[in-house]
Formats: sequence, structure tokens, C-alpha cells
Amino acid sequence: MNILRFPLIKNLFVNRWPQFVVMVIALAGFLLAILSGLFGTPVGSHNFGILLVWITWWAILMLVAVPFLGRGWCSICPIPAPGEWLRSGALLGPREQAMKWGKKRWPNRFRNIWLQNGTFLLVALFSTVILTQPKVTAIVLAAFLFLAFGTSLIFERRVFCRYMCPVGGFIGLYSQLAPVEVRVIDTAVCTAHTEKTCYTGSIDGYGCPWDVFPPGMVKNTYCGTCMECLRTCPHDNLAVNIRPFGADLSVNRNRRLDEAYKAFIMLGAATVYSTVLLGPWGSLKLAAYSIGTLPWLIYAASFLILILLALPGLFWLMIWVGKKMSGLAQPMKQLFVAQAYSLVPLGLAAWVAFSLSFVFANFSYVLAALSDPFGWGWNLLGTAGLAWSPWLTNLTPFLQVGVLVGGFIWTATTSRKIANEKMAGIQAVKLSTPVIVFCLAFTLTLMGLLIA
Ligand code: SF4
Ligand code: SF4
Repeated sequence: MNILRFPLIKNLFVNRWPQFVVMVIALAGFLLAILSGLFGTPVGSHNFGILLVWITWWAILMLVAVPFLGRGWCSICPIPAPGEWLRSGALLGPREQAMKWGKKRWPNRFRNIWLQNGTFLLVALFSTVILTQPKVTAIVLAAFLFLAFGTSLIFERRVFCRYMCPVGGFIGLYSQLAPVEVRVIDTAVCTAHTEKTCYTGSIDGYGCPWDVFPPGMVKNTYCGTCMECLRTCPHDNLAVNIRPFGADLSVNRNRRLDEAYKAFIMLGAATVYSTVLLGPWGSLKLAAYSIGTLPWLIYAASFLILILLALPGLFWLMIWVGKKMSGLAQPMKQLFVAQAYSLVPLGLAAWVAFSLSFVFANFSYVLAALSDPFGWGWNLLGTAGLAWSPWLTNLTPFLQVGVLVGGFIWTATTSRKIANEKMAGIQAVKLSTPVIVFCLAFTLTLMGLLIA
């Protein structure tokens, strides 16, 4: 269903003001998070920056925005805004005369998400410190802002968002599950429209800032839902559709190794975080915190080996077993990449379950920090003295089990569907069964780590 049929919703998306206002508010929050990280209390549980980013924003992102809106967050993310405003010389929409900077094309060899996989792993390796030390959080946020700003002034379109942002990488992967999409309505209209202003831009808006060619878009992965194509298409040929959850997973085109690896990285990282941050092993936690020491180096090496080699290696073995059992004469790499997409629902479920374990438990800290963002003894809203009280503690394990079981069932069904693309009946069952066993083992491990 195309929700642009409702004039109110269409105006909300096409008009630049609502998006601009939300982005400015988000930018103010982002800058305040940096300032409170740098100058506020060093106690993480009382610092506004830590609580805004790692509790509030994270909860909204993982529990609501990504599962239901896909890249909805990217449409109002403030990180690329300052660079784009300077590059275009305007706050709202393009100017008639373009500015002279930001014209370089991003090199072809980096037009994939390997760099993004790398930036995510880099942040993940230091995450125990980033999540708890306000100054480090502030430095990381400021680095994102400067990198986005710098790349905006050199390269065309949103290079930072598309190829570098560690958050954008996994949002893109999981946006395939969201029940909403931007798509062209009639490709025949596009074929006849030689100017292709949705990609090239016009006085009404920018050519797709995410370097996506809207008439050819079949998945959500790289569409930042910025709504520029709605503004630049003179034929009103774009729709914002409500669709079934996970519709992109059945698109058997454009499956790539870098995206397959993103699925392993995300599933592996959720498992490692659940083990280190929530498990009972104090020495492991200490090693993850002791950056630069030998225990940390061992932790970091184990983290990378597990995520980049052991996990994909075990999955490869499962594919090999499935291929042997089914007798399918398909190259291993193709089967491996295609089946890796079945891990996407389980990966998101793992992150949702992991997030549930700390978001509600720590949310009361947020209310206190809103009154005293720097920890300087203010009481702006009268909530500074609120004592810590965890929310929904009795309900959380049930929610986690529900989410993980749901994720497993979704992943198993997806694996079977992907197997069905190559063969039918019992052969498809044989091909996907080892993958399903692998995912079941993962689901049970996560349940043990999060709930036991
Ligand atoms: S501007 Fe509109 S009609 Fe033209 S190619 Fe893009 S979506 Fe199609
Ligand atoms: S396809 Fe349209 S909505 Fe998606 S990123 Fe490009 S211009 Fe924005």
C-alpha cells in the first residue's frame, strides 16, 4: 500500500521543513552529548552523553526504528547535516548555483561495505570503553561528525553514510526486514524519462544523496529514506509502500559477499557482547576493558578470529554438508553468500534481545540525567534525585525468549525459501537443514547467555 495516497503523509515527506526541524533537534542533542561527554561527570551512569546515546538512542534505534522503519533513522540523522549544508550553501534544498566543493567521485574499489565492516569492528573492539567512558563516547561522536563533514567537502553525495558509517552498515542490513520501502511505481515511466532527475537532481531537490538509482532499486539496503526522489521526480512516480516484513530477503539478485559478512559480523558481535557484558566471567570483562594490555590483545584477537573466521568457517561447513546431502551442483561461494542472508532475522533478534537486557534496567538514569546533563548538581526538571529503579525486570526474560524464538523461526523459514530458489521438495530441506541446525545452536547459546 502506497501511503503517499494520503495527502497529509505526502506533504509531511515532500515538504522539507518537518525533516529539517527534527534533524536540527537531533543535531542539538548530538552536540549536547559531545559537550557533556567532554565537560560533564565522568560517571557513565550519570552522564547525559552516555545515557542519550547508548540507552535512549540505542533503544529507539534497535527496538523500534530499525525493525519497523528500516533506515528511518538515516532520514533524520544529524551527522551528515553540517557538511551538506556547507557543501550546498543552503539549509533547505539545492541552490540554483551549485557550490564548487564536494564533486569528487568515490573510488570504485571502495564501492562496497568492506570499509563499513571494518569501522564497525574497530568500534566494537573498543566498545566496552566507549560505552562506559563519557569522554571516549564524545571523541567517537565528534570523529563521526568530522569525518562526515570532511568527506562531504571532498566527495559527491553521502559517502560517509553509504560507505563508512559503522551504524549505517548494520541499519542497511536489517532494513531489509522493515515493513516499509521507497520504490518507483511504474518503471515504464522511468524508461521514458530521459533526464532521470531522481538520480541527477533538479532545482526541486538533490540527485539521490545515497547514490542509489531509484528506478533500479529492489532492496532497502542503501536507500536512506531521505525522500529527495519524491521531490525531484516530475512524474510523481515514487511510492512509500507498506509491505510484508522481510520482503527484501526473497530478492535473489545483488547478493554480495561484503553484505553476507556483515550478517556474520553482526550475529557474532551480539554473541560476544552478550558473553562479555552480561556473562558471569569477570576476567573476560576485565580483559575487554584493559585496552593495550596482553589480556586485551588476546580478547581482541579472539573476537576477530571468532567473527571473521570461525563463524563463517562453521557456516561454510554447514553449507558444504547441505550441498553434499542434497546433491546440488552449485558453486559453494554462491550458496554460502545466498544462505548468509537467512541470518539477518536472527541477527536482529539477537541485538533486540541483547538491548532489552540493559535498556529497561537503566532507563531511570536517563530521567535523572535530563535534569542534570553535566552532573554539575542542576535539577532542571526536578528529576535529578530520582533513585535508580529498573523497569520491567520480570518481563524482560520472556520478551527475550519470544524475540529469539521468533528470530529463529524467521531465519529457518528464510533459509528454506532461499534453498527453494535452487531446488524443490526434500532436496531443499536437505540443503537448508544444516544451516537451521547451526542457527538453532546459536539461538540456544544466546538464550543461555542472556537469560540463564
Ligand atoms: S525522476 Fe521519476 S520518472 Fe524519472 S527516472 Fe526517476 S523515478 Fe523515474
Ligand atoms: S532512493 Fe530516494 S529516498 Fe532513497 S536515498 Fe535515494 S533519494 Fe533518498
